[in-house]
Amino acid sequence: MSTLPLQPLRFAALPETFYARVQPEPLNQPQWVAVNTDLLAEVGVAETFQTASNLAYLSGSAANYQPQPLATVYSGHQFGVYVPRLGDGRAMLLGETVGSDGSRWEWQLKGAGKTPYSRFADGRAVLRSSIREYLCSEAMYGLGIATTRALALTGSADPVYRETAETAAVLTRVAPGFIRFGHFEYFFYKGREEELKQLADYVIHEHYPECAAAENPYLALLQQIGARTAALVAAWQAVGFCHGVMNTDNMSVLGLTIDYGPFGFLEAYDRHHVCNHSDREGRYAYQAQPYVAHWNLAALAQCFEHWVAVEELEQFLEQWPAQFQTAYLQQMRLKLGLLTERAEDAELVSDLLAALQGQQVDFTLFFRHLSQVANEHEAPLPESLSALFVDGATSSFALWVGRYRRRLRSENNSAVERAERMNLVNPCYILRNYLAEQAIALAKNGDYREIERLHRCLSQPYQERAEFADFAEAAPAWAADICISCSS
Ligand code: AMP
Ligand code: MG
Repeated sequence: MSTLPLQPLRFAALPETFYARVQPEPLNQPQWVAVNTDLLAEVGVAETFQTASNLAYLSGSAANYQPQPLATVYSGHQFGVYVPRLGDGRAMLLGETVGSDGSRWEWQLKGAGKTPYSRFADGRAVLRSSIREYLCSEAMYGLGIATTRALALTGSADPVYRETAETAAVLTRVAPGFIRFGHFEYFFYKGREEELKQLADYVIHEHYPECAAAENPYLALLQQIGARTAALVAAWQAVGFCHGVMNTDNMSVLGLTIDYGPFGFLEAYDRHHVCNHSDREGRYAYQAQPYVAHWNLAALAQCFEHWVAVEELEQFLEQWPAQFQTAYLQQMRLKLGLLTERAEDAELVSDLLAALQGQQVDFTLFFRHLSQVANEHEAPLPESLSALFVDGATSSFALWVGRYRRRLRSENNSAVERAERMNLVNPCYILRNYLAEQAIALAKNGDYREIERLHRCLSQPYQERAEFADFAEAAPAWAADICISCSS
C-alpha cells in the first residue's frame, strides 16, 4: 500500500480495451536520485515524501500497488510510417492526486518494467536519459512552456543494456493527462468507432469541458488541440527547443511537451539543426518542427472524420499555419522587445535569423545580449554581442540592427525598459547538452548534487544569478562530441 494520496484513475473508467493492468518490476536497492520538492504541494502531497515506502512505490519495488496501475494502448506515425500498435511500453499510470488548487494530476512511472506494449524492449529507462527528462521537463516549466512534469527520480545499480551496460532509473512524472494523438489513431485505424468516440468524449469531459457546449463539440476539440499545439510549437521555436522525435505518439492532445528523449536546445543558431543523431534525414530538424506539427495535426484530424465534415477538417488544417505564425510572431516580438505589431514583423524576424545563419552565434546568449543594443543609429554594438559571431558582427547583421533601431525609435521604445522586458522572456540559462552531461557523469558516480543545482538554476531561467555563472556559458569545445540518439 502507498502512503501517497493516490486515487483511482479516471482513465480506468474507459473500457478495458483502452489499457492493460500492469505490475511494476522491482529495482534492487533503489535510492532517490532527485526529488522535486517545489512540485509536491502543487500535486497534493502534504506528508513527508522521502520515506522508505514511497521510495519502494516510486521505484517499482512495492509489494502491493493500489490503485491498480495501468499501461495504455496507442499507435502512431513514427517518422511518417504508421505503426499499428505502440502503447505504454515502459510507462505505467499509478493513480492520480488532487493538487493544491483542486486540479487533478495523473502519476506515471517511466522505466518500471515491461508491459504488454513493450514489444521487443525491456521496459526500462537508463539513468542518463531519465536525468535528461527530469531536468528538461523542469527547465521547460521554468521557461513557461507547457510540459509534463518530473516529480521524482529513483535509481539503482541494476544493469540496463543499451550500446553499453548502464544502470536503471525510474522517473515519476505527472501531468493533467498523458493522452497522445496516437491514442486516437489506434482506434481510428482499427475502425473501432465506438471506442474512438468514447475517447473523444472522455477528453472533452476531463480536459476540454468548454467544448461540450459547442455546436459540434468534436470540431471544437480539434480546434482547441490545434490552438494549443500552435502555442506550444511557437514557444519551442522561440527558445530553440528541438523535440527530436515528433512522432504522433509523442504529441500530447493537451498541448504538453511530452516524451523527452533525444531533445536538444539550439546552441549555435542553425535552422537545419537536428538534435537526434538517429534522425539521419533531418525529418525533425529545428526549422521543420512547425511543419511536422501541422502534419501530425492532419493525422489527428483524420480520426475526427466520423463527426466533422471533410470541408471543416480541411478548413481547420488550412488555417493552422497562419494560426501558428501568429503565435510565433507574438513570441518573437516579445523576444525583440517590440511594442507594436506591424506588417513588416515577419520579415524583420526572418531577416534576423538569416543574418545569424552560419555565424555560429549562440541563440540564447544572442537574445540576452541583444537587449543591450542602444536605440541610436551611431552607437557601437555591445562588445558582448559582436563577440558571439564567429568573426565579429557581419555587415548583414549590422544592416539588420539599423532596421531594428529605426523600428525601436519609431515606436518610442525606451532602451532601459526594453532591456528589462527582453530579459523576462529571453532566458539566460537553458539545458545545454554539456550541462546535462556533466550532471550525468557525476550522478553515475553517486553524486546527485549537480542535478539539484541545475534544477534550481533552470527553474528560474530568466533570472541571472552569480552562483550559476558557469551554467550561462556557451558549450566548451569537448561538447561537440556529445552524441544524443534515440537510445534511452
Ligand atoms: P519513443 O518514440 O521513444 O517515445 O517510443 C516509442 C515506443 O517504444 C513507445 O511505445 C514506447 O513505450 C516504446 N519504448 C521505448 N523504449 C522502450 C523500452 N526500453 N521498453 C519498452 N518499450 C519502449
Ligand atoms: Mg514516446
